Amino acid sequence: MQAEIITIGDEILIGQILDTNSAYIAKALNKIGVSVYQITSVQDDKTHILKSLKEAEENADIIIITGGLGPTKDDITKHTLAEYFNDTLKIDDAVLNHVKGIFAKYSPNPMSQLNVNQALVPTKASVLHNEYGTAPGMWIEHNSKIFVSLPGVPFEMKGLIDSDVIPRIQKKFKCPFIMHKTYMTYGLGESALAERIEAWEDALPKEIKLAYLPNIGKVRLRLSAKGLDKTFIMSEMDRQEKLLMPQIKDIFVGIEGFEETMEEQIGKTLTVLGQTLATAESCTGGRIAEQITSHPGASEFFKGSVVSYATQAKIDVLNISESLITEHTVVSAAVAEAMAESALKLFKSDYAIATTGNAGPTKATDKEELGTVFIAIASKTGVYSEKFNLGNLRIKVVNKAVDKALDMLQK
Ligand code: ATP
Ligand code: MG
Repeated sequence: MQAEIITIGDEILIGQILDTNSAYIAKALNKIGVSVYQITSVQDDKTHILKSLKEAEENADIIIITGGLGPTKDDITKHTLAEYFNDTLKIDDAVLNHVKGIFAKYSPNPMSQLNVNQALVPTKASVLHNEYGTAPGMWIEHNSKIFVSLPGVPFEMKGLIDSDVIPRIQKKFKCPFIMHKTYMTYGLGESALAERIEAWEDALPKEIKLAYLPNIGKVRLRLSAKGLDKTFIMSEMDRQEKLLMPQIKDIFVGIEGFEETMEEQIGKTLTVLGQTLATAESCTGGRIAEQITSHPGASEFFKGSVVSYATQAKIDVLNISESLITEHTVVSAAVAEAMAESALKLFKSDYAIATTGNAGPTKATDKEELGTVFIAIASKTGVYSEKFNLGNLRIKVVNKAVDKALDMLQK
């Protein structure tokens, strides 16, 4: 069973909004064993919409379309669908009553003809009731293919997908069982990891596929299984996990969506020990603190952060001595360590992390090259630091520095 998703809307094509509808629908379809063959985004333009409908019909069994169902002139999906199926539009009484009801309840203005037009649907379509809005969803069967048209507003689309579209598809087709599991690793590059687990990968059964998803220092391994026999698929995934785990034990961070990220693990450990953490960040601009506080429960162990970006702020806020900076330059082990010790004192925490570096594109000092970052960790028993070279791309340097800092703390 193959599906194609078509999202319609100028706002996607000019980069004003992100097409999150496709991701949501693709996930929901995958869950019930329907793989998505292609995702296409098109402008609110009749010729382009007709062209993509035709292509989708050639390739897929199920075509799900979102967007362009609004009452305004720029929303043309319904008219285009009617033209595509050689159909006409007629008022659906149930939809009209629903629209009237919404107006009576929520709108201070009388209903206009534009609003009445929301109840127009192609005669060949069955209406999917949109509880959360005025634009109805539509289900059209044509040449043994299914076309589903949904509103673009994400929560309206989600409501229809979950309550109506997915159950209808499951009823109509015998869908295979699909399962994904993603293992997060940190500390080993993609090719080194591939070499390490090569024998295991080569021996995977044909129902299971492996994908490497590298992302700045982290590599996620996604196992995807698909088959009609759900029991077999589930037990085979279990068996493969047991074979994989011992091989990635030293670099395993967690299972995506289930297990913990590095900062969550740190948080748990510190909470259990009743210890606290603070940060003093220069080149990471508060991102370590941001990452830590993005998880509930951070208040149990995280005291706070000083984002001392400017050199003067290191002097004024963290009390780093001017002579230390002059002697070693601001991007140095000595300054990183002094920052960490100062944060430890300021926040009265058990641990403190500090970062200082040349994230680029220009250098803060000439002494160290671009991408050099010093990370220090202070505790009541002392302070130590490490020097890293994290490349010359600003965003990479900053993200890697955050990961390295968390990794150092974890160890
Ligand atoms: P309405 O009846 O509310 O006008 P509609 O079907 O006409 O719905 P659009 O006008 O295309 O939908 O989109 C409404 C809003 O929904 C957009 O402004 C945008 O914020 C959001 N939206 C549309 N398409 C997508 C998409 N693919 N992913 C995420 N958001 C989207
Ligand atoms: Mg629109």
